[in-house]
Amino acid sequence: MSEQTSGFFSKEETDEIVNAIVAAEKRTSGEIRVHIEQTKVEDASKRVVQVFEALNMHETKLRNGVLFYIGVEDHSFFIIGDKGINDLVDGDFWNKTKDVVIDHFKSGQMKEGLVKGIEKVGEKLSVLFPFQGEENDTDELSNEISGNNG
Ligand code: CA
Ligand code: CA
Repeated sequence: MSEQTSGFFSKEETDEIVNAIVAAEKRTSGEIRVHIEQTKVEDASKRVVQVFEALNMHETKLRNGVLFYIGVEDHSFFIIGDKGINDLVDGDFWNKTKDVVIDHFKSGQMKEGLVKGIEKVGEKLSVLFPFQGEENDTDELSNEISGNNG
């Protein structure tokens, strides 16, 4: 990561992650976002909730937004879903997904881990919240990574 000049992810990695989000959202009305927290925070578990709200992720029609949060300073990682999806997934879905991502992170594969996680969440969302067609299904939340160049 030391070779990168700006941002946690390089331009190429960012493109791959955004493409994974776009691909996932073609199959679901759900919305996926990635946030990179570059500054030191006191309590990451509180910060992730703040970020979720700051990005208006609680305002999707079906309450089916999912946020991937990476805390650079404290090496934290969270995936949180809004009420709509939380009510429908098994209790261990988030942890299982987190495990897949973190397994990659441990070997330094940050981008691969995120892409795998996005695919896994996208798969689940496509079953629970199928895509509603070009006319009805809008891109409610930006697909860009937030905070990457913090
Ligand atoms: Ca959508
Ligand atoms: Ca989106």
